[in-house]
Amino acid sequence: MQNTSYIELSKKAYKSNIRFIRKIVGKDVKISIVVKGNAYGHGIEQIIPMAEENKINHFSVYSAFEAEQVLEYKSKKSDIMIFGYISDEQLEWVIKNQIEFYVFDIYRLNMALDIAKRIKKKARIHLELETGFKRTGIEEEDFLTIVRLLKKNYRHFILEGICTHFAGAESISNFVRVKNQLSLYRKYCRYFKRHGFIPKRKHTASSAATLLYPLTIFDLVRVGIIQYGFWPTAETLIFRYNKFGDKESSLKRVISWQSKVMAIKSVNRGEFIGYGNTYLANKNMKIAIIPVGYNNGFSRSLSNKGRVLIQGRRLDVVGTVTMNTISVNITDLKNVNIGDEVVLIGKQKKLSISVASFSEMSDNLNYQVLARLPQNIPRYVVE
Ligand SMILES: *Cc1c(COP(=O)(O)O)cnc(C)c1O
Repeated sequence: MQNTSYIELSKKAYKSNIRFIRKIVGKDVKISIVVKGNAYGHGIEQIIPMAEENKINHFSVYSAFEAEQVLEYKSKKSDIMIFGYISDEQLEWVIKNQIEFYVFDIYRLNMALDIAKRIKKKARIHLELETGFKRTGIEEEDFLTIVRLLKKNYRHFILEGICTHFAGAESISNFVRVKNQLSLYRKYCRYFKRHGFIPKRKHTASSAATLLYPLTIFDLVRVGIIQYGFWPTAETLIFRYNKFGDKESSLKRVISWQSKVMAIKSVNRGEFIGYGNTYLANKNMKIAIIPVGYNNGFSRSLSNKGRVLIQGRRLDVVGTVTMNTISVNITDLKNVNIGDEVVLIGKQKKLSISVASFSEMSDNLNYQVLARLPQNIPRYVVE
């Protein structure tokens, strides 16, 4: 182990998740795999080839910067779509490389059409419509201007999609908001159709919407979190479980994260462990020092709360998480040795540590715990 920890990605689990998604959406709906945030911390470099092996050929990212990374690892036949940030300077590169992108205002549309005209390449656009999320999206009052621009420049773009994003389909409390968004979306699509603009694909659904709202599926789904084997929220899992039972509700965790015991130390009763006085040993203890800290994606809010596995036993993190280390209480284990495997996320013997438990303890979302896993941790694909 060169680095202080490493990540393994299970091909088998990934395949099973893709199959699960395919079964839900059916064979005619395109699956766009969301790989923003370095593939939710899993690693773009490793996830892209795995996805392609499973017949995925559409990848979504948030920025042109991420699109550059995907371009490096994808095969020729796959497409890339950018939801969000493209600087004015990057837009030409995006159009030149035939990357699909969201148009969410008049400014971007104007600029894209100008560039497309100049470099004689069609811009592959998705019109993102504001339906109530209030992030990005074209406002209804601008529709007519957009339509006019499109009519005038019909030779310089391909209308790949008309789309929107829901304000939290993963939570029942947003039901009314999502329902209203969907009906606005349908109305707006009719508006563009009346003006002669029918997109290649209509799309609105992320993971949660795909699972909870079949009506939102349309022609393409943009799935992030579930491909990696995580439920967007507990509510999503419960819904699925109640409706379809255990067998049809199984996602498999793709990632596991390991480190090794770096040092072992005895602590006497009455001594503090680590920085400050957050942990007082109330008996004689033995602790193991693990070379993973908040700089390596192990959140500081797991101080005195986190758990790890050593020798198939679940053990407590004691004291504060430092930049590069945690201390683990191994008092009850007989022969822990330097170099023993430590599981931070994943399975060891009969026990496992889920990202969900990790995130509950640290008051973070699954998404956040994953996205914080640094890019420089080595990642290996395993069967
Ligand atoms: C992140 C994102 C998704 C994917 O969300 P998941 O909950 O991970 O499936 C889909 N669409 C847009 C616009 C996003 O930003």
